[in-house]
Amino acid sequence: MAAKWLIFLGPPGSGKGTQAQRVCGKFELTQLSSGDVLRHERQIGSDIGNRVAAIMDSGQLVSDELITGVMLAAIDRLGRERGFILDGFPRTLPQAESLAGGLRERGMHLDAVVDLLLDDEEIIRRIEGRRVCVECGATYNVSFLPPKVEGVCDKCGRPSVIQRPDDRRDVVATRLATYRRQTVPLIEYYERQGCLHVVDASVPAAEVEERISRIIERAGSA
Ligand code: AMP
Repeated sequence: MAAKWLIFLGPPGSGKGTQAQRVCGKFELTQLSSGDVLRHERQIGSDIGNRVAAIMDSGQLVSDELITGVMLAAIDRLGRERGFILDGFPRTLPQAESLAGGLRERGMHLDAVVDLLLDDEEIIRRIEGRRVCVECGATYNVSFLPPKVEGVCDKCGRPSVIQRPDDRRDVVATRLATYRRQTVPLIEYYERQGCLHVVDASVPAAEVEERISRIIERAGSA
């Protein structure tokens, strides 16, 4: 099976990361989450990590140049054999254009862009309940998917399940406004290119996964 190259778009809290984790194994894809890559840089205390810390905690976007460089490097590390799902990148038109150029230079292309749709009220409910394991990246929700033992990760067993600082109520409003202003234009950009697939993210996760799976199965085979 040829590698498939995909983007998951959608507001924070729409389930991009969760759905990417769910479908990656099935389709031999690797999830490349820009937020996770940056959080890793912070955790190891790298120069990049130190530069982005305050911006991330405020809910604003880091510079297009920095994130594009970081993500193209991640794509290069992965190679061409294995497909990917870009989760959280691109988030602005300049990023989308740089990504298109970067893929072209590498002889690669996008097979599909999946846009997860969710209204603001549900986004806020999901984000405020979200908890993540800072060690292995597993995600939970205190309302509908809590870890078995509070604060302890079911997957890796470490006591590392926390609320991200930028998932707090005051920061969520900024992140949503940033999304509307800078990322929503990408929906039209990819629609014009004929590769956009909109999925209702308000239905149960298993159903969202089903719909995304059908899109991935068909992607790249036209
Ligand atoms: P996320 O986990 O995707 O919500 O990302 C967390 C934070 O990392 C964002 O609020 C931004 O500060 C930064 N970030 C992640 N991806 C990008 C991107 N594509 N462009 C700019 N900043 C980003």
